[in-house]
Amino acid sequence: MVADCTTIWNDCLEIVKESVGEENYNTWFKPIVPLRVEGDVLTIQVPSQFFYEWLEDNYVNILKKAIHKALGDDGRLEYSVIVDSGNTKVPPVTVNYPNGVIGKRNGNGHDGDYSPFTLRALNPQTVNSRLNPSYSFDNFVEGDCNRLARSAGVAVAKKPGVTSFNPLMLYGGVGVGKTHLVQAIGNEIKSNMPEKIVLYVDQNDFTTQFLNALQNHKLQEFQNFYLQVDLLILDDVQFLAGREKTQEMFFHIFNQLHQSGKQVIMTSDCPPRDMKGFQERLLSRFKWGLTADLQEPDFETKLAIIHRKMQADGIDIPTEVAEYLAYSVDTNLRDMEGVLNSLIFHATLLKKEIDLDLAKEVLKNIIKEIQSDVSVDFIQKTVSEYFKVDLEAMKGKGKKREIVIPRQVAMYFCKRYTQLTLALIGENFGGRDHSTVIHALESVEDMMKTDSNFKSSVEELGKKLKMRMN
Ligand code: ADP
Ligand code: MG
Repeated sequence: MVADCTTIWNDCLEIVKESVGEENYNTWFKPIVPLRVEGDVLTIQVPSQFFYEWLEDNYVNILKKAIHKALGDDGRLEYSVIVDSGNTKVPPVTVNYPNGVIGKRNGNGHDGDYSPFTLRALNPQTVNSRLNPSYSFDNFVEGDCNRLARSAGVAVAKKPGVTSFNPLMLYGGVGVGKTHLVQAIGNEIKSNMPEKIVLYVDQNDFTTQFLNALQNHKLQEFQNFYLQVDLLILDDVQFLAGREKTQEMFFHIFNQLHQSGKQVIMTSDCPPRDMKGFQERLLSRFKWGLTADLQEPDFETKLAIIHRKMQADGIDIPTEVAEYLAYSVDTNLRDMEGVLNSLIFHATLLKKEIDLDLAKEVLKNIIKEIQSDVSVDFIQKTVSEYFKVDLEAMKGKGKKREIVIPRQVAMYFCKRYTQLTLALIGENFGGRDHSTVIHALESVEDMMKTDSNFKSSVEELGKKLKMRMN
């Protein structure tokens, strides 16, 4: 009588049980479903690619022993890996793998003509890197806000995959220059090391390609392609949150690339520790290399970025206009880019002179939607920059004089320039009560009476804030 697959698998499990602890048994062997036995080959179904790899890495000898005992010396094991558990429209997709040591591959029933273990060699010259050549280190302005990230980027560009900055994870808010910086790294490597395959993808590209591959049963090709890349840049990785299957695939690609000394660079809108909707093992990988943040640019950096951009377009921008813009556009650099482009348009096509009036007009039209009123944030930021104190410290509880005075000044301007009640102003400064705010207002007015330097500082700040309000 020919034994069925369940009986054979149960025999195997008896042997496995003797060698692995109960916890490991429950984690790695219980979820396995025996599918069929054909001749000497037992096919088992495992829940994911990762699962398959884990078994292969950790239990191959035990499995070999078990299968030989159950099926004889020619016995082989084959895996059927669930790559997507499917839904009502798409049935489950599985990919079959032979056991790395004792198995032999079978077709997966969908796509007979690819082999998971054959890599089609890519030509570095013809692979579309999806890089935008206009992003370079040269036109990336360095400032305190991005120094660490930029230096790490330069190091990686010199020696991709060799430094300990692998993966390099850059994070920061909108428009702080993440995409610019990672593209600059890619461009640098591509031009200095033409033999390297560089690939920039945003999460959208990656997800779309993955889903296409999934539906067309081309997962192996998808994977093979990615595994040949020397530098993989994945931009805005936070959007993979909650996409389990895509994460699974990325995890696999990431591991393989990392193991073979290939460089991986990622960007995200927050540090890995705050990323939600990610598998823990993926997050822990993100932290293996270097995590560096990009802050919002300070005034000087913004100014330099404005000048750099206008120069690149051959346009002279008067200092007062540049300063006005650096103060006024406080949302993000992408908005700044919009404003500058509009100025360039006015200057080149309409042949208008770029002066403060034109800048204000442009700003009114573009920025109106993004910033209506002068905000507490803007006041706090401007004041902290002006006094060169740490923004968070200024908003916090510290009692040092060099922080307390800027804090009081910021409260003073919040009272003057916003509609907020005293209590709400207090809320915005570490949850202080309204009497603290009253005290702050009084102190500022007193100091202005007695200290003329202080008075002119406050007036100057007032002008900067007002400029924004026109
Ligand atoms: P992110 O990807 O962080 O949202 P981007 O890289 O798209 O931001 O940057 C937004 C715009 O600001 C781009 O046009 C970029 O070139 C410009 N930019 C950002 N940081 C810098 C910088 N340090 N030097 C020059 N341009 C910058
Ligand atoms: Mg970006």
